Amino acid sequence: MGAPLVSLWGQSVSTALHDKFDSQQAYAYTAQVAGFGERWPGTAGHAKTEKLIHDVLKKDGAQIETDDFTATTPMGVMPVHNIIGKFNVSTDPKQPIFILAGHYDTLHKAGFIGANDGGSSTAILLSFADALAHQKTKMQIWLVWTDLEEGTFVDNDGLYGSRHLARKLKNDGTAARIKGFFLLDMIGDKNLNVARETQSTRALQDVIASAAKLLGYSRYFFQYETGITDDHVEFLNVGIPAVDIVDAEFGRMGSQFDGMGEFHHANTDTMDKVSRSSLEIAGRTVLLTVELLDR
Ligand SMILES: [Zn+2]
Repeated sequence: MGAPLVSLWGQSVSTALHDKFDSQQAYAYTAQVAGFGERWPGTAGHAKTEKLIHDVLKKDGAQIETDDFTATTPMGVMPVHNIIGKFNVSTDPKQPIFILAGHYDTLHKAGFIGANDGGSSTAILLSFADALAHQKTKMQIWLVWTDLEEGTFVDNDGLYGSRHLARKLKNDGTAARIKGFFLLDMIGDKNLNVARETQSTRALQDVIASAAKLLGYSRYFFQYETGITDDHVEFLNVGIPAVDIVDAEFGRMGSQFDGMGEFHHANTDTMDKVSRSSLEIAGRTVLLTVELLDR
């Protein structure tokens, strides 16, 4: 959609960004990251995930930046490493910026693998990098892997990486150039059901809904409303339009389960709960939305 077709040896080949999304590779990345095991800051799995992100960004020709600091948390002082991969950076100092983000840390809980919660968001961004390596956009696209998103969410415990980065972008004036911020979270759930998150910027959600409709994916998006405390809130707090693209119903729902479902923050959040199809739906929809916003 929305991009010219070129004829290659008599065959029509789309040059659209969303057609560059490889869901098989996104699923493979998810399995690779989940295979690293527990991934809160300081673990071997966290370090392996950081290395994978850097390796893929290098391979894909991104400008890599890091946002490193130490956070004081109820668990003690922790090193926090946000990772930013910038694509299509022009010489224009006013070039608009669009951010696609997701957290790569996992909940601090023994035996928690987070195939969906942490794994799928890390992986879909890696596949976005692979797609952006071969497709120009007018906007500068930043892929942001946020760190230490997880916490107890009591007294601001959680969202450490996103809070630090959002305030930094506000203070250095970059925030004014950022057209929007999409957070992807738990979008690998094989029963994909993306919430209309109630704090998110409605106008941007409507563009996502348009993209989903064009792709025949409407039934997977915005069939219910809920408010979620997630990394997007920190960007909204500094005036950046933001959407949390989150599947907030992970497994069976009910009073006997976590408020976000049976497998949320449970050690049963494993690869058998994730599907290639859901990564494809989320990935293609987000990249088509970027194309619609890039016009
Ligand atoms: Zn979580």
